[in-house]
Amino acid sequence: MSKVTVVGSGLAGSEASIYLAKRGHEVDLIEMRPKFQTGAHKTDYPAELVCSNSLGSLENTSASALLKSEAEILGSSLFPIAKKNSLPAGNSLAVDRIAFCKEVYETVKEYKNINYIVDKYTKIDVSNPVIIATGPLTSSELCQNIKELFNEENFHFYDAVAPIVEKDSIDFSKAFYASRWDKGSADFINCPMNKEEYDNFYNILINAQRAPLKEFEANYFEGCMPIEIIASRGVDTLRFGPMKPVGLFDRRFQTPFKKNQFYAVVQLRQDDKIASMYNLVGFQTNLKWGEQKKLISAIPSLENANILRYGVMHANTFINSPKILNKYLQTRKFKNVFFAGQLTGVEGYCESISTGLLASINMDRYLNNLDMIELDDTTMLGALVEYITFNSHKNFQPVNSNWGIVRSIDDTVKIKDKKLKNQARFNRAITNIKELSNKLNKGV
Ligand SMILES: Cc1cc2nc3c(=O)[nH]c(=O)nc-3n(C[C@H](O)[C@H](O)[C@H](O)COP(=O)(O)OP(=O)(O)OC[C@H]3O[C@@H](n4cnc5c(N)ncnc54)[C@H](O)[C@@H]3O)c2cc1C
Repeated sequence: MSKVTVVGSGLAGSEASIYLAKRGHEVDLIEMRPKFQTGAHKTDYPAELVCSNSLGSLENTSASALLKSEAEILGSSLFPIAKKNSLPAGNSLAVDRIAFCKEVYETVKEYKNINYIVDKYTKIDVSNPVIIATGPLTSSELCQNIKELFNEENFHFYDAVAPIVEKDSIDFSKAFYASRWDKGSADFINCPMNKEEYDNFYNILINAQRAPLKEFEANYFEGCMPIEIIASRGVDTLRFGPMKPVGLFDRRFQTPFKKNQFYAVVQLRQDDKIASMYNLVGFQTNLKWGEQKKLISAIPSLENANILRYGVMHANTFINSPKILNKYLQTRKFKNVFFAGQLTGVEGYCESISTGLLASINMDRYLNNLDMIELDDTTMLGALVEYITFNSHKNFQPVNSNWGIVRSIDDTVKIKDKKLKNQARFNRAITNIKELSNKLNKGV
């Protein structure tokens, strides 16, 4: 069997290394932490979730659930570990972040053919097989080397993380447990507001001072927009976004329930196994910490909240995949070099894990002189890869799993209901992925 280097033990790199080790390859997994930190990671473990602890929806008609199912069928190791370490979160997959990354670490260590090396990788050795999975916070030396190898100039943008508060400091005379439309169990803590309270909150937010962005020009990804940027687009944008009140009812007081009981709602999601920490959903921010304190105190039920972690903003990095990669996640220029994870221009935990898996499946096949696999846009993973490797993007921007990129169902089957339509696409994708997985298992 061959020797492969995987750079970065994040979500994509850990998934890729375990897959390659299972296939019998000798893997050098090179990770720079804890010797060199990134600014967003807090632990010494691989596969750390740097912000939210949610790996998205589990609902059968959701794009994120489809991606997770596809990856599991294709042999993912990280999604089963996530499920094993899940926390109550309605219909979504939230995990105990420490338990999750510890178990990924233990799994990596179980494989004697994975050599876990703590060091900074700065120059891609194109003469040997390598998967680059260094993520959105790739070290500057390696960025420089990628620029030189692929003649790429600018590949940075911004992402932000949300604050976390201590549960015991929440005022439950105002806050209540519920999930939207009562789907799944009532796992979210909801902090409701009336109009007056919302207007006060909004005024504090739009007048708050932001932390300066030093290195690069601010360029945000729409899916991870700081709350102050959303707010600057209009007084009601938050009420139609992260603070939307629809489908949230305080079952303690109101019977019968009104359709819209509240003017706006801040939702909090469980962040650790013992449910002592909760993150503010959709509240990623770049406000100065003092301003965050003022803003959070203006949320009814969080007036005295103990803030355990403040929101921060970080540079994010992705390559110009439409120019650099083919559909196997292999570089067009150097056949030995593959990319995986957020660095390829997919956005999100599940997307990073799934591309890590695909890159390693194809690396294994490449090394064994087998045809590499090419997924099409009937599957979520195929649609993502098609999107990031599509050649004629003028202004390539990262993408996360969504139904917009998946091929619609044949016109002869007229399905009007959106859920039924997605269910049909979900079923089609699973059938196609299972067929492919059977072929892979037979060694074809
Ligand atoms: C601040 C921030 C918040 C985010 N929040 C969310 C969120 O809430 N939800 C979500 O779905 N997605 C989020 N993302 C996006 C993304 O899904 C995650 O960053 C995800 O962890 C990406 O996985 P990855 O494997 O590509 O990279 P990572 O998980 O970041 O792993 C890359 C690894 O490579 C290492 N590394 C970097 N350079 C080198 C080098 N030169 N040599 C050796 N090792 C190196 C790093 O230390 C790191 O461990 C966020 C991103 C950022 C930056």
